[in-house]
Amino acid sequence: MRAAAPQQSPEWRVNPRPERSVRGADLTTLGIGGEIKNLLRPRCEEELVSMLRGLNPGEGPFCVIGGGSNVLMTDDAFDAPLVLTTAMNGVEVERRGSGTVLVRCGAGVRLADLFAMTLEEGWGGLEFASGIPGTVGGAVMGNAGTLHGETGQAVRSVRMIGAGGAVRDFSGGGIEWGYRSCGLADEFYGVVSEVTFSFRELEKEAVLEKARRSADSRRNQPRGRMTAGCVFRNPPGGSAGRLLELAGCKGLSSGGAAVSEVHANFIENPGGATARDFARLALICRDRVLELFGVRLQFEIRTLGISLGD
Ligand SMILES: Cc1cc2nc3c(=O)[nH]c(=O)nc-3n(C[C@H](O)[C@H](O)[C@H](O)COP(=O)(O)OP(=O)(O)OC[C@H]3O[C@@H](n4cnc5c(N)ncnc54)[C@H](O)[C@@H]3O)c2cc1C
Repeated sequence: MRAAAPQQSPEWRVNPRPERSVRGADLTTLGIGGEIKNLLRPRCEEELVSMLRGLNPGEGPFCVIGGGSNVLMTDDAFDAPLVLTTAMNGVEVERRGSGTVLVRCGAGVRLADLFAMTLEEGWGGLEFASGIPGTVGGAVMGNAGTLHGETGQAVRSVRMIGAGGAVRDFSGGGIEWGYRSCGLADEFYGVVSEVTFSFRELEKEAVLEKARRSADSRRNQPRGRMTAGCVFRNPPGGSAGRLLELAGCKGLSSGGAAVSEVHANFIENPGGATARDFARLALICRDRVLELFGVRLQFEIRTLGISLGD
């Protein structure tokens, strides 16, 4: 990895300290979230292993957050240890013969930075990723993608670290990639610490053109607003956004949260919204679609410390 952990005293390296009293709102793109009481911010795999080994079983299971761009976090204090991966951001490139490039990324590498790198270099495989915020770890866990492609198609391998610092490696081909899902969480409870992507060396212009086409098809999403991406998954063969729009959800509000006027599958925090406002509004929208179309939408957004009643 290009970015190794900075040199610190041996004690610090072996037992990096948790951070206390961080605001969850500062870690999520929605700008919602209460006090986090036990934040673990490893800068490399070694630190992550050491931190997970150091957890006291009495503290309960740990949780994970990357870019916080697909999560709704509780307004209340969050007591469970929370691993934040954004400082695990090393990148290492290996050119193989026959036009294949392997890129090994720490889980906290921003997908947008990796996307930009592939455009600069003319590597094919991530052209769909324009405008998707978050980290590569989050992109793997949710198989982030668009109509033009998904993360899983470019993944060669994934490393995870679990309770007590246990290490598990998965080959990309062996993972059960699905629509906004991957089977990893069912197999192993842990933190994605590293993702290796396999890209193809192509003509730069061809890669750019494909990326432009993909970006063009996403112009109907709200920009510059505090959201957590799509609230609901598309039902089989349909569009959640379309159903929500037909059900009259655009512009609905609850407390400080409001359904986007631009895209009905986005709920915005114009400032001052709480997780409860968001949850209440999301459930109103879901009920409207159920009543009108008989379709029970499933949540795409993930939660930390709050239930959406599913
Ligand atoms: C404006 C906007 C547009 C978006 N457009 C798209 C889109 O087109 N397509 C799309 O798929 N998504 C989209 N999203 C949603 C979001 O960006 C993606 O789901 C993204 O991949 C989430 O990554 P993250 O690092 O922010 O994950 P987080 O939001 O931090 O976490 C999401 C889930 O993954 C888990 N997780 C995160 N990192 C790890 C890790 N290292 N190990 C284990 N578990 C982990 C968390 O526990 C949580 O359950 C959009 C979001 C916004 C705000």
